Amino acid sequence: MLIDYHLHSQFSCDSHTNMEAICQAALNTGLNEIAFTDHMDFTWPHQYENHYVHDLDNYLHTIAIFQDKYAGQLTIRAGLEIGLEKHRLNEYEKILRKYPLDFVIGSVHEIGGIAVSQKAFFQGKTKAQVYRQYYSNLLECIRMFDNFDVVGHLDYCKRYAPFCYEPGDHLIAMDLITEILDELIKRGKGIEINTSGYRHCSGMCLPHFDILRHYRQLGGTRITIGSDSHRTQYVGYKAAETTDVLKVLGYTHISTFSQRREIPVEI
Ligand SMILES: [Zn+2]
Ligand SMILES: [Zn+2]
Repeated sequence: MLIDYHLHSQFSCDSHTNMEAICQAALNTGLNEIAFTDHMDFTWPHQYENHYVHDLDNYLHTIAIFQDKYAGQLTIRAGLEIGLEKHRLNEYEKILRKYPLDFVIGSVHEIGGIAVSQKAFFQGKTKAQVYRQYYSNLLECIRMFDNFDVVGHLDYCKRYAPFCYEPGDHLIAMDLITEILDELIKRGKGIEINTSGYRHCSGMCLPHFDILRHYRQLGGTRITIGSDSHRTQYVGYKAAETTDVLKVLGYTHISTFSQRREIPVEI
């Protein structure tokens, strides 16, 4: 069973890839199931006028066309990647209650109006300050809001960090990470493995293997795999290898979702 549960199409402001091309790429890569998870961030990224899927009816209608077209070949789920912004969580709640989605990723992309990908976010801070601010903010968000299914790219703070990456970096905030994982497990939420991390200088998926191991030891079972692809070339990126990594870490199932309900599938 191969899945890619983190895909951006032309409905995301930072992607120009059409859904049909993504479906074809998924089939070519041997994927069984995909989820479109276009961006719903109200204030990020700042350089774009439209920060998010602003016509959800059209978005869902377009996904439905491809669900019909590829029925029997490829299972296609309708999802969103929402940006967890502390001051706008009520707005997300209203949207998510209104639209019939299969799957929602909750990700932190900005804190206090500054994108975690911008140089300004790191200015004047040590690596430890950056990591701890990022995880404290994530913890606050998931305590305030739980209308998501998995947390996206859990150690995203390292993706754009200007600091030299060191293998023990994830230990800087392990106390906060443990609180986050406990909170997620308590609320029946999962985490994703974001394979874009393999292209980061750490050479490892997001989050770090130790965090994936820790989540399982704490009792966590809900894991999706996603490429975070914005272009067809990365659709299904390292999906097979990552599924094997999960087995090595002791996982027996991977999570898929339909109408916001988890369907665990044996791996
Ligand atoms: Zn993201
Ligand atoms: Zn994404």
